[in-house]
Amino acid sequence: MSGEIRVTGVRRVYEIGAGGSLTALDDVDLTVETGTFVSVIGPSGCGKSTLLRAVAGLETPDAGQITVGGLTPERAAADKMLGLVPQTPALLPWLSVLKNVSLPKKVNRRKGRTTADMVDLLSKAGLGDVMHKLPSQISGGMQQRAAIVRAFGLHPDVLLMDEPFSALDEFTREALQEQLLDLWDELKATVLFITHSVSEAVRLSDRIVVMAPRPGRITDVIDIDLPRPRGQALLKTPEFHAYEDLVRDRLRGAFHYANAIAS
Ligand code: ADP
Ligand code: MG
Repeated sequence: MSGEIRVTGVRRVYEIGAGGSLTALDDVDLTVETGTFVSVIGPSGCGKSTLLRAVAGLETPDAGQITVGGLTPERAAADKMLGLVPQTPALLPWLSVLKNVSLPKKVNRRKGRTTADMVDLLSKAGLGDVMHKLPSQISGGMQQRAAIVRAFGLHPDVLLMDEPFSALDEFTREALQEQLLDLWDELKATVLFITHSVSEAVRLSDRIVVMAPRPGRITDVIDIDLPRPRGQALLKTPEFHAYEDLVRDRLRGAFHYANAIAS
C-alpha cells in the first residue's frame, strides 16, 4: 500500500476581479511519505485550504503536479484512497451516528469495514454510548469525533484534515488529538493535517510545514523528533516546549510578513 503525497512546483492563482489576481500557492513542493503525519500551519489566507483541496482533487493547480500514491488526486479520490475531514462535521442529520459512519462502507466496496468494525471504532472514539443517537442529540465534539471515525471507516490510504478541531474547546481538542493518534496508529494512514495550533501540530506530527501568505508558499519544514506514543505527559516535557518555541519562532516570520502586507 502506498499513500505517498507528492506536490511539485504547484501554483494556484485566483482571479479576483478588475483584472487582479491572487497567488494562493506559489511553487509549492511537499512530499508526505507513506504513513507519516504532516501538519501545515500558517496565518489565515496563506493557502492551507487551497493546498489541501488540491491534494483532494477538488482544485486544479495552474502549474505543477500532485500525485497521491502515484495517481492523480482525481483518480485517487475515485479509487476511495482519500478520506477528507472538513472543518465542520458534515453528518447527515436524519441518520444515527452509527449509520452516518457506516455510510462510506456501502459506497466503498473495495475495502469497506463491517458494521462490527465501525461499532468498535466508535467505542474507541468514546462514542459507544451515543451511536444510536442523531447528530443533533450529541455535542459538537462528539460530532467531530464521528466525522473522524467516518473518514477512518473508509480505511483511506490518505487522510486529509482541514482544521478539524478548531471549533472545539481545549479539553475536547486534547482528547480528540489522543483519539486521532490512536486511530492513526491502528490504521497507518498518511495524514495531511491543517491546524492553527502550535501545540497541536507539535503533538501530532512527524513534520510541520510552515506557510506564509502573498504569495502562499512554504517557508519552513520542521521535523518533530519526539517519541511516540505522545500522551498527556509528553506535553509537559522541556523537549515538547522547545519544539513549540521553535515552531512559534518560525511562524512569527510568516505572521510578520502577513502583517507587513496588510498594513
Ligand atoms: P487558508 O486556508 O490558509 O486560510 P486559503 O487556501 O483558504 O487560505 O486561501 C488562500 C488565499 O486565496 C486567500 O487570500 C483567499 O482569500 C484566496 N482564495 C481562496 N479561495 C478562493 C477563491 N475561490 N476565489 C478567490 N480567492 C480565493
Ligand atoms: Mg483554511
